[in-house]
Amino acid sequence: MRTPIVIGNWKLNGTRAMADRLVADIEAVRPELKDIDIGVCPPFVYIPQVVAQVAGAGLGVGAQSCAEYDTGAYTGEVSAEMIRDVGCQYVLVGHSERRTLFGETNEVVGRKTQKALAAGLTPVVCVGETLEERQAGKMNAVVGAQIEAVVAAVGIQAFERVIVAYEPVWAIGTGQTASPEQAQAMHASIRAQLAAYSPAIAESVRIQYGGSIKPGNAAILFAQPDIDGGLIGGASLTAEDFLVICRAA
Ligand code: 13P
Repeated sequence: MRTPIVIGNWKLNGTRAMADRLVADIEAVRPELKDIDIGVCPPFVYIPQVVAQVAGAGLGVGAQSCAEYDTGAYTGEVSAEMIRDVGCQYVLVGHSERRTLFGETNEVVGRKTQKALAAGLTPVVCVGETLEERQAGKMNAVVGAQIEAVVAAVGIQAFERVIVAYEPVWAIGTGQTASPEQAQAMHASIRAQLAAYSPAIAESVRIQYGGSIKPGNAAILFAQPDIDGGLIGGASLTAEDFLVICRAA
């Protein structure tokens, strides 16, 4: 059995005060939420305060990205080692906003995943197709290539410590979520792709869905056999919505 995992990706949102309140509200309810992993990914600068706040509360903290480098003259970058050093457990890798806005290729995502694993973090590898790619019937090929690049970089065995997040680009921040059938089909396809390397790893790897998950649609998505929780953007910024979604998992 795979333990469901719900992670809030705050993106470029928040203040110290907002982080403080939001985390306190989640922590207050955390003991009621059994058999589920929960994490939050604040902007880098708020990570230390959130880590200090959640100590021992059963809430994981992650970063939204990491460098593909270890150390040196890379102005503005933050390494996986540093993220681990300040107490994070997770790091998102290859979010579609990173791929589209910041030019992260499949190869870059592979290298970042490798850095995250080497630092002892759990990488949450994000994959997903654009609307044009879906309309052209290329979604399985696109997502398949995204997964393949990570397998090539880190090997199938490393997927014991990798979480995959399927986030169709057209569903992110649009209010237009994938239907449970669309999401389930892609999750099954990702699992089948991994099963060709190792049936055991394919069975154990957790695959989150992300893209306009809201309190009203979370339960039906999470009820699909190959969906193991969610990566939540907008709805992770209010404790009330985020907790309804956590309960649904
Ligand atoms: P929304 O939930 O705002 O659509 O964002 C999803 C996402 O990109 C999470 O990483």
